[in-house]
Formats: sequence, C-alpha cells, structure tokens
Amino acid sequence: MQILKKTKMNALKVARNLGPLGVVEILRKKKVTGRGGAGFPVAKKWKFAMDTDSDVKYLICNADEGEPGTFKDKFIMLKNPKTMIEGIIIAAETIGVKNVYFYLRGEYLNLREGLEKEIKSMLKKSESDASIEIVMGAGAYICGEETAIIKSIEGYRGQPYCKPPFPPKAGLWEKPTVVNNVETFVHIAQSLYFDDYNTNLRLFSISGCVKKPGIYEALSGESLTKVISKAKPTNKPKAIYFGCFGGCKPYKEMKLTAKNICGDDCVHGAATLIITDDKTSAVDMAYIISKFFTYESCGKCTPCREGNIQVLLLLKKLRAGEATKEDYELLKELSLHVQETSLCGLGQTSTKHITTGIKYFESEFTDLIKEDGTGKEE
Ligand code: SF4
Repeated sequence: MQILKKTKMNALKVARNLGPLGVVEILRKKKVTGRGGAGFPVAKKWKFAMDTDSDVKYLICNADEGEPGTFKDKFIMLKNPKTMIEGIIIAAETIGVKNVYFYLRGEYLNLREGLEKEIKSMLKKSESDASIEIVMGAGAYICGEETAIIKSIEGYRGQPYCKPPFPPKAGLWEKPTVVNNVETFVHIAQSLYFDDYNTNLRLFSISGCVKKPGIYEALSGESLTKVISKAKPTNKPKAIYFGCFGGCKPYKEMKLTAKNICGDDCVHGAATLIITDDKTSAVDMAYIISKFFTYESCGKCTPCREGNIQVLLLLKKLRAGEATKEDYELLKELSLHVQETSLCGLGQTSTKHITTGIKYFESEFTDLIKEDGTGKEE
C-alpha cells in the first residue's frame, strides 16, 4: 500500500532544500488534495495563509474522525504515524507556523500516548522549532468540521460558524489557520520524496454486510465491484451507503470516481463504503442514521436541531405502522428542507440517506403506510 510507505525524514530534507515556494510548487504539480472529504488543493490552501502578512499563523491536524464507517485516519495513526508527523513538520515550516494543534477524536484516547511519543521523537530528530500539541476532542461529531475545531481549540463549545472569513485568512484567534486531515499529511510527505507517488490512490473504509471489513487502497476510478469484493460481501449487495452523511445508491457496477458518486445526489466524502444486503431494510437504515444525526446536531441552527428530531419522529411512526400518507409527504418535504436551510455541512447532509433511500427504495417506505392512508393495520 502506498499509504504505508515511510519517508524516513527524507521528505523533510527535500522540503528544506526546496524552500516554501518550491514545496508549494511540487504539491501543485503533483495535484495533492485534501483527504478529509472536500478534496481542496493543498497548495492553494497553504498559499492563502502564506500570502497573509500576519506574523502568527496556526496549523491544525484534523484527527477528529467521527464519521460512522470511516476509520482510515485511525489506520494511519497506528500504522504510519512518522510519515504523517513528517508531513505536519513540513507544513509548519512551509507555511511559517510555530504552534501546531493536533485535534484528536475523543474516542481515540487510546492513541494519545503513542502519538505523543512519536511527536516528541520526530520533533527532536528534525530539530524543528515548531511545537505540536495534542488537543483531545470531547466526542462531538461536528468537531470534524474545521470551524467547529477552531472554536473547540479556542475553548468555546465546538460549533461551526459562517464563512467567510475562511480559516487560511482568519481562523484560530483570528489568525491565518490551515486545517488539514491526517491522511493529507502523509500525502504531503510522500509526494515530495517518492517519484512514483500517485495522487489518485484512495483509502476506502469498507464495512457493513462483509466478512472482511477494513481499509482497502485502490485507484480512484476503480470498479466498485472489484473494490468491495476484497472485503468479501456476505450476500449479494443491495445498497452502498457513502458513510452516514453521503446518502446511498443501489448496488450496481460503477467506477468509483468522485464525479460518478457526487454527480447527482450522493456525497463521496472520505471514501466510506457501508454495504447492505437484502436483509437490511432501507427504512431501518434511515431510522438508525437519523438517530445518529439527531444526537450529533450541535443545536446552533433550528432546521438541523429541530428538523432532525421531527424527521426521526416521523420515521419512528412509519416503522411502527402508524404513519399516514400526509406523514410520509411531510417526511420527504422536511428532509429536503433540513438540507436546504441548515447552516453547516452536517445539517445539509443529515437527511441525504432519507432522500436517496426514498429515491431508490421507495416501496420499502410506502409499504409501511396503510392503504387508506390512516396508518398500517396491525
Ligand atoms: S447544521 Fe446542525 S451541526 Fe451545523 S450548525 Fe446547524 S445545528 Fe449545528
């Protein structure tokens, strides 16, 4: 696997020889993009911060991997932490950062001690004058969102805020701040050192109805069937959920490109593939995922906070066979309303699993409505 290849401080040597502008040029040429989900070009993000005249800049490593079914960052922190830390040091020296914050998911507390040791040893070996401080998240899914991380590190409740200003211009304590994901830092180091570095390799987190859930590396554009066959589906797959926020699609052969998946109503995100089979009801999936989002909504804006509760109650009614046709229509309307009016990405994607579930598996939802529209007969 490319992601496990170690740069052994050689990438840092290359970066120091090239200087900041040379590093940015390589990242631009090799098309290194963020791996947290948005896929923004790394060179462009760094340049925004580098071009500010602020003396103080910050760097945050986003290790708050909370998306259900996604565990690629945990895999990297366990299997190739040195290359990740080398990427962080390169980023700090290139952007001109003295203080780096490593924001670690609260549930990954068991990784903290090992990471602290590695960070200490890597900083010593590199003789870098940057500091890297681990900040533990408190278990909130929303703190994977960059503005919520910033608020959390500042000591406030981890809630997103409206952009602009974008963090590379004004972020942590209103200073230019670059937020990159764990996997991105590995790509940064590898792209500088390995001639055969391939930016199109992606890490897929595969789980659900499979015998071998895990991390699988494959080229973007690879066949879906080929990628999921490595995880050995237990039965013929019925649907693929792209994490909880990404919506679902019926299983059929396709090329796994961001464009193919994001082209209409799904979100590619962090390459998460949750497989379901015929024994898994689309309504049950909708209910379980809705429970998750109702719990994880940070509560800042009304459509997400209240809308998700109402959506969950409607799904509960539907599963109990008590939903009318009006309830069902309301469920569809409210799901769209939450997507269209919520403040941040969490709310905007929190009902994708319902709108896509209904789009592709509508009969499973409508079968639970009694024919006369008053509720299902016991
Ligand atoms: S959309 Fe949800 S998570 Fe995002 S700010 Fe609003 S309440 Fe918070």
